[in-house]
Amino acid sequence: MVRGVRLVILGRQGAGKGTQCMRLARHYVVPHVSTGDIFRASVKAGSEFGLQADEFMRAGTLVPDEIVVGVVRERLCQRDARARGFILDGFPRTAAQAEGLDEMLAEERMPIDVTVNLDIAEEDALARLAARRVCSTCATIYSTSRPPAINWTCDNCGGEVVQRQDDTEEAIRKRLADYNELTTPLIDWYTERDSLVHIEALGSPDEVLARLVCAIDDRKGA
Ligand SMILES: [Zn+2]
Repeated sequence: MVRGVRLVILGRQGAGKGTQCMRLARHYVVPHVSTGDIFRASVKAGSEFGLQADEFMRAGTLVPDEIVVGVVRERLCQRDARARGFILDGFPRTAAQAEGLDEMLAEERMPIDVTVNLDIAEEDALARLAARRVCSTCATIYSTSRPPAINWTCDNCGGEVVQRQDDTEEAIRKRLADYNELTTPLIDWYTERDSLVHIEALGSPDEVLARLVCAIDDRKGA
């Protein structure tokens, strides 16, 4: 079995981050830790930080970084992540969170092996997102260049495959701009520490996965 890995993945919308996180999780046999999912799970489980986060979310205010880091800590300290590692997706989102994460993982003696940025030019991301089509029943993703076999009917479930309403060009441009504004300081933070690996996100999912695994194994071995 391949060795595990502790990985942070960054990448703007359209970079294929979700797809690659799932594939990497299978390859390295580590949990794919997506912040949205662990927030819901920790609130549901009534964990210490989950309950604190829930109070802020109910009040409609931003959850403070130390509580977000606490929720992430609770998840990464579970047995599967302790034993083999994890793929962190959707966190950190700011330089302050990156710093908090770094400190916490140093205390837990499980530092990140590799931080990857899946690189895609804004115009390419826009083209990909504008071509995206989604099954309205099971959420399987297609595109105009890779449609389902029969007349926009989902291969998996027979549901109707459509363009999401928030996938208009204007809305996509806004999301990409918001991402840039939020994430540029984060990218700078990792770059200053010389700990960011850039991976080209264009190409088939198999090609991108091969590139990722090669770069990650290289960095781990170094
Ligand atoms: Zn479907």
